[in-house]
Amino acid sequence: MPGTSVSVQILVSVLLICLLDWNGFVKCHSSVTIPKLILVSMDGFRWDYLTKLPEKDVSNFTFLIRNGASASKGMKNVFATKTLPNHVTLVTGLYAESHGIVANEFYDPDFKEVYEINNPSQMVDSKWYDTGPEPIWVTNQKAGEERRSGSVFWPGCGAVQKGRLPSKYLLFDKRMDFNTRVDILVSWFVSKEPINLGLLYINEPDHTGHKYGPNSTNLVKKIKELDGVLGYLINKLKKHGIWDDINIIVTSDHGMTSTPAVKDINIDNYISPNKYRVWTGNPVALVLPNKNESQSDDEALKKVPHVTVYKKQDIPAYYHYKNSRRVTPILVVADPHYSLSFNKSVVNKTVGNHGYNNSFSDMHPIFMAHGPAFKNVTVEGFSNTDVYAMMAYVLNIPPAANNGSLSAVMALLKPRESSGGITVTYFVVIPIVLCVAALLSVAACRHRKSSHRL
Ligand code: ZN
Ligand code: ZN
Repeated sequence: MPGTSVSVQILVSVLLICLLDWNGFVKCHSSVTIPKLILVSMDGFRWDYLTKLPEKDVSNFTFLIRNGASASKGMKNVFATKTLPNHVTLVTGLYAESHGIVANEFYDPDFKEVYEINNPSQMVDSKWYDTGPEPIWVTNQKAGEERRSGSVFWPGCGAVQKGRLPSKYLLFDKRMDFNTRVDILVSWFVSKEPINLGLLYINEPDHTGHKYGPNSTNLVKKIKELDGVLGYLINKLKKHGIWDDINIIVTSDHGMTSTPAVKDINIDNYISPNKYRVWTGNPVALVLPNKNESQSDDEALKKVPHVTVYKKQDIPAYYHYKNSRRVTPILVVADPHYSLSFNKSVVNKTVGNHGYNNSFSDMHPIFMAHGPAFKNVTVEGFSNTDVYAMMAYVLNIPPAANNGSLSAVMALLKPRESSGGITVTYFVVIPIVLCVAALLSVAACRHRKSSHRL
C-alpha cells in the first residue's frame, strides 16, 4: 500500500490476522461453551417427602434447594401417573397421547401385541418408542458431533429413536447399586470423548413407598439413603473438577399415596372376567371389551363405587390421553386411595400406589436444579412437560416440537450467558471489526488525497 502511513499498515495487518484466524477462534469458543447437564430421576419421589426428615438428614437436597432453583409444590406430571409415561414425558416434553407410552402395560391394536414394562426385549424395540417423539439425548447429539449423551438406565434409552441411540448407555439392571451408577455416569463426563448430557435413573423410593407406604419409617430411611447418593454424586463431580460447570436437575416421575386395604374394590363382583381384557389395572385400568360386549361392559362398570369410567371419546381433554390408538375403548380411574382388582387378581398387595388423576397432589414429583444456568429461586410449580424445553435451553440447542412451555419455566433460568459465548462473538466482535475496517478505509482514502495535493 504505497502512500499509507506505517500505523495504518500495522492496523490493517492486525485486522487481516484476526479475520484469517476467525475459524479457529469460533471453533475454540464454541467447544468451550458446550453446556453440561445431568438429569437425575429418583422414582416415586413425592414433592413433599423432604419435609418428613430433619434438615441434617437431607443436607444435600437442602443444599441444592438453597443454592439453586426448585418447585415448592413439585411438578404436575402427566396422566397416567405411572413410571413409563412420565419418564418419556420428561425427556420429550410430550403428553402420553402424543408420545404413545400410555401406561406401564398397554395393548397396541395395530401390532396386536401387549407392551410390558418388565419385558427387556420390548424396552429396546424401537417399534414401541420410535413413533415421532425426539428424546433430549437425540436433540443434544443432533446439535453437533462434539455433543454426546449418556444414559444410565433411563427408561427407553436402549431403543433406537430418530435413527439414534445415546452415545453411551446402559440398560436397567436393578442389582447395580446406586453409587456404582453414579461412578459410571461421572466417568463418562471425564472420558476421552466426554458426554455433555447425562441421564441417571434410580429405582427408589418407589419400591419402598409401595411396600411400606408413603408414611412409613422405612420410607424416611430410604430418603436419607438417597440424600447420601446425591452427596456422593456432588462430591464425585467436585473431585473431578467439573462441579462448577455442571447443571443438575433432580426430579422424579410421580409421587405416592396410601392405599389401605379397606379401600380395595374387586371388579369381578360387577362384571364377568370373561367379558373383557385389561391392562395396567390398578388404580387405572385400560379395558378392552371382547367383541360385541362394549355397551354392557361400560354400563356394568359404571355401577362400581369409587371409580370413574370413561368411554374413550369422553375422556376429558385435560388428561391429554384419548388421542392414542393404545388407549382402549374404556378407561377406569379409581378415586384417590382406592385399589382395583380384575380377573381374579389378588387385590392390593401394596400399601402405597400411584397412577391416579394427575391433579391429585400426592401424585406430584419433586423438582430441584442447580448450576450455572439456574437462578437461585423457588417457584410454586409447573408441568413436567416443560422440562424438555428447559433442558434444551440449558444445553443451548433448539428443541423439537413438544407440549411444554419454556416461558413457564424461565423464572428458574438465567438469561443466556452474555460473555465469552458465540452469540457475543457474532453480535459484538463482528460489528467492531467492521467499524474499524471502515475507519481505516476512510483514513487511507484521506491520506491518498492529501498526498496528491502535495
Ligand atoms: Zn415410577
Ligand atoms: Zn411404582
